[in-house]
Amino acid sequence: MKRVFLNSGGMDSLAVAVKLKDDELHSLYVHTGVPAADAQAEAARKIADKYCASHKMIVLHDILVPPTETGRIRPMYYNTPILAILGAAHAASLDIVSVVSGNKIEVFDSNFEKYMAKLLSTTKLRGERMYSRPLGKASFDDIYQIVKDDELLDQTVSCLSVPPCGICAKCKNRQKYNIGVTAQ
Ligand SMILES: [Zn+2]
Repeated sequence: MKRVFLNSGGMDSLAVAVKLKDDELHSLYVHTGVPAADAQAEAARKIADKYCASHKMIVLHDILVPPTETGRIRPMYYNTPILAILGAAHAASLDIVSVVSGNKIEVFDSNFEKYMAKLLSTTKLRGERMYSRPLGKASFDDIYQIVKDDELLDQTVSCLSVPPCGICAKCKNRQKYNIGVTAQ
């Protein structure tokens, strides 16, 4: 099946690519301007070179900036829906009706998948669930088991800081499993 794959260049993205390697994946990396974005973009390209039929990067950091006022919408919360909608737009342009991401946690409101389905249903094709997260609620260890033998694992980018901060949960997990955190 053809799918648009929201590829952030992280371990979860690599796991999605490995898991769906029999599908025709069209990778989309959205450069949001986080400090590690260039490193993420490079990692995403490597994942796409190995597993995907096509790869596209959209640079958004001059257009979408985090809200300056405190409120319900915060940078890490607005990312997922925005990225998914961009993925849906990319999918629509390719007549693809499936968008997948490595996101493991439901961080958007309950109507979100309905919006996604509606957006994608304007394409000529009909398919299975339009927006899906193949990793479900996988734990870090589950993800690790999927990607541990992939030579790109050490080149994935998990931390948003440059160089990797070494103290966030993602860096800690990588250290625990002896996955490179400074080789970026
Ligand atoms: Zn970190």
